[in-house]
Amino acid sequence: MKITLIRPALNKTIPLASFYLISELEKQNHEVDFRLVYKKDYLPKNGHSVKTSVFESAFKTSDKIIAIGCMNDLLPYILFALRKFKKRNPDKIVILGGNGPSEYAKEIMDRFKEVDFVVKEKDPSILANLITSIERGEGLSRIKGVFFRDNKEIEYVHSNRDYIKDLSFPKRYKFNLNGIVEFLLLSADGCPYKCTFCNNDAIGKKLAYRELDSVILEIKWVLNNSKKPPLFFLIDESFVVNKKRVYKFCEKLKENKINISWGCYGRVNHMDENMARILAEAGCICVFYGIESGSDKVLKEICKGFDVNLAKKVLIMSKKYFRKVFASFIYGYPFESLEDFKSTLSMKAFLESKNINTLLHFLTPVKSSKIYGDYSKDLKFSEKKDIFTFYNLSSEPDDFKRFVKANLDIFPIYLYYDHPALKEKLRITGIKI
Ligand code: SF4
Repeated sequence: MKITLIRPALNKTIPLASFYLISELEKQNHEVDFRLVYKKDYLPKNGHSVKTSVFESAFKTSDKIIAIGCMNDLLPYILFALRKFKKRNPDKIVILGGNGPSEYAKEIMDRFKEVDFVVKEKDPSILANLITSIERGEGLSRIKGVFFRDNKEIEYVHSNRDYIKDLSFPKRYKFNLNGIVEFLLLSADGCPYKCTFCNNDAIGKKLAYRELDSVILEIKWVLNNSKKPPLFFLIDESFVVNKKRVYKFCEKLKENKINISWGCYGRVNHMDENMARILAEAGCICVFYGIESGSDKVLKEICKGFDVNLAKKVLIMSKKYFRKVFASFIYGYPFESLEDFKSTLSMKAFLESKNINTLLHFLTPVKSSKIYGDYSKDLKFSEKKDIFTFYNLSSEPDDFKRFVKANLDIFPIYLYYDHPALKEKLRITGIKI
């Protein structure tokens, strides 16, 4: 069966899940019309209105079945565009998936009749199984991992298959990798930590590993299909947690004479000088650390599992080995005092003085996080969404604003935690609500 697969993407990248989805669709003999909608087209200028018409145009010329994947930030725009589109095209079958829709799968099915299915789980074979069932006209009750309607009842059967072992790239579909500057890799799934701001339920607490040879094959595939090697980035949340496996991966790169530049996520309580040296010798040039705060009180509250002293020590050590070291911070926690926030700013300034790149994000409420449960009474709405993302609701049309306000529980990117120190924090960062 032919399906149209649509993914919004940052410029010059291809979302990794697309490769695995297309591979599984190919295995079940489905034909894929794959379309990337790049940010340069849907958001030509930062801070300006997202062009939902760009998504509508992609839907218009699609096959009967459209599968769309997106993150939380684009979910309102995709749903808004779909509502208009499905009114004019009631026969099209719409499937949503990806991080954004999966967290709110039940609510989307309850409220948005224009969506026929929501794939809840990360296993890429679920979409292919669903398409095969639709093609054969089989009942959907055997399909696991998907929300669907059965006589107006919303049904869902948990799958929980250990999918990571079977991930593979497509054999027939030809991707155009020209101009792709960064290529993501996935070698493991899950995270054993419980940071209270994170949607760790969706990530999965159990660590599941892929054969490293399969990751190596993927790197070779990319190198064989690119004119200029991209920067590879391992997006495993817990890459450095298993030291033995990190060393094995570095050995395999050498054994296979793979000479690439790559990066990964680090965690300061798992990184030491020996690991940094081995990573650097294997071509790792960039490590990204989520530090989250410069205050020990906040780090304890969010259950980060390390303190400020260790973070500073490991970041400075890392800079000796990696060309780029990133330290990412969050502010706007409901329990963060002004003093805590100033500690974050001073740690940030200190790290910058050591040539470490820093990022400071305003806390986005995540529905499945512990903080959301504990502080939901303090949540407030703001139209000046530029404090959360690069989109700005205040410049959107009125019908879109009404749509968002009617569904704020599934669009938390427009919400923030109100608390006594917030006003002063925003004054310091120059951001207005
Ligand atoms: S923030 Fe990172 S380390 Fe913490 S629970 Fe989430 S994925 Fe794990």
